[in-house]
Amino acid sequence: MINLILFGPPGSGKGTQAAKLVEKYNLLHISTGDLFRYEMSNNTDLGKEAKRFMDNGELVPDSVTIAMLAKKVEANPDVQGIIFDGFPRTKAQAAALDELLAERGEEVTRLIMLEVPDEEIVQRLLERGKVSGRADDQSEHTIQRRIRVYRDNTSPVYHYYDEQDKAVKVNGVGDIQTISQRLSAEMDRLIAV
Ligand code: AMP
Repeated sequence: MINLILFGPPGSGKGTQAAKLVEKYNLLHISTGDLFRYEMSNNTDLGKEAKRFMDNGELVPDSVTIAMLAKKVEANPDVQGIIFDGFPRTKAQAAALDELLAERGEEVTRLIMLEVPDEEIVQRLLERGKVSGRADDQSEHTIQRRIRVYRDNTSPVYHYYDEQDKAVKVNGVGDIQTISQRLSAEMDRLIAV
């Protein structure tokens, strides 16, 4: 069972690359951002609450996010493995994930961080904003806030798993195929163990 955290700043390509990996390795893809956007599009109470934070580039509170993630994991007991995309984003979420997996007799196998410089992230997100329709991709101000939130609240998650010798970095600059090959090489190493 592989439980992979695909990690990195907003716009580092986590969603694009997770979609490729789940197909190749037959894993379940859980993106908390996608789950929130689904709730928003259905105008549920959860969606309405999440929207207040998302549109401003802030994190949805841990309690709400962890409960939603746990529900999704628990609804899928028989999968071969999971790719977590955009979760955990705080140390409290990381601790909750460890606990949730421990209840299934499992653990996080690896965290892979896609490294992309800030300047490139801003450009990528502004480009994506032209087609994504996402409010949080539209203004440079919101994008800068998301980068700051990543640096202040989310990057400690890397160190949390690095202390457990589970974190690796992969160069996230290049064309989609090249980056996918770098990630596949990491996955193949994991599977070989
Ligand atoms: P993403 O699609 O991963 O870029 O996430 C978009 C937005 O959804 C983020 O800026 C947050 O507002 C919210 N979000 C997604 N995942 C989380 C999470 N794990 N914790 C808190 N907020 C999240």
